[in-house]
Amino acid sequence: MNASSQTSGPSAAESAPPPVATAADLSAEANASASVETETKKGVPEGLWIKCPGCAEMEFKKRVEQNLMVCPRCQHHMRVSAARRIEQLLDPGSFDRFNADMAPADPLGFIDTKPYLDRIRDTQKKTGENDAMQTGYGFVKGRRVVLACMDFTFFGGSMGSVVGEKITQAIERAMEKNLPLIIVSCSGGARMQESGYSLMQMAKTSAALARFHEAGGLYISVLADPTTGGVTASFAMLGDVIFAEPKALIGFAGPRVIAQTIRQELPDGFQTSEFLLESGFVDRIVHRKDLRSEISRVIDYANK
Ligand SMILES: [Zn+2]
Repeated sequence: MNASSQTSGPSAAESAPPPVATAADLSAEANASASVETETKKGVPEGLWIKCPGCAEMEFKKRVEQNLMVCPRCQHHMRVSAARRIEQLLDPGSFDRFNADMAPADPLGFIDTKPYLDRIRDTQKKTGENDAMQTGYGFVKGRRVVLACMDFTFFGGSMGSVVGEKITQAIERAMEKNLPLIIVSCSGGARMQESGYSLMQMAKTSAALARFHEAGGLYISVLADPTTGGVTASFAMLGDVIFAEPKALIGFAGPRVIAQTIRQELPDGFQTSEFLLESGFVDRIVHRKDLRSEISRVIDYANK
């Protein structure tokens, strides 16, 4: 419950390897991003049934959708796109989007196996989105908020200049209009292809949040599976209140990198919501069906 917890980002950064996603991380991201909401369909008649990644049982897709993409058997919280998240969180039809047209440039002319701009264009075509973030005004149980949702289906939800700028503008609008700010994080970390530009977004978003905090703003951070890398090391951990979905992967660097760096064995599940709740990094684990009511309770409590 500590808004000035700026220490959690930088201190994590000091004790861990640099917050740059490695090529391996990013390819894992790319794979993971392709698998969101589709991985469950492998080998299964398209569209009707879903295989739960938690309990491996087949479930009728409609039923899972009605259950907010949570498995009705084992309560596994499946990953959802930003669009679906917004639909789940806000009062129906209340989303008033801004900055939808903001799209990435390629100041570095970055090319790995493929030019960055080509990758971006492919992903844009596939997702119909310009980048990995949606921001806008909306209502949660009648309370007006500014909402920012990361989209893991776009480039593994990685944070480049556009994501950083959209978050910063969302914070500034919340400040200007004295509205509660909600950011749902779901990200593989910094976007390697934007290199230093991507890393600067950590400082930029953190500074904007510090100004928002100074102005008495309320920021509720919601951590969804996965929240990692530079996102964890900046705005995701700076909430006045930090909620996490059950069993979400939340961490800075991957377990293998940490184990190699500190040369110690790591406890099981040390990067889950549950572990972070125990160690005080997360304030509450909230089931997806309770997110709306928990958010509105905090807003009322903070008198916003
Ligand atoms: Zn299940």
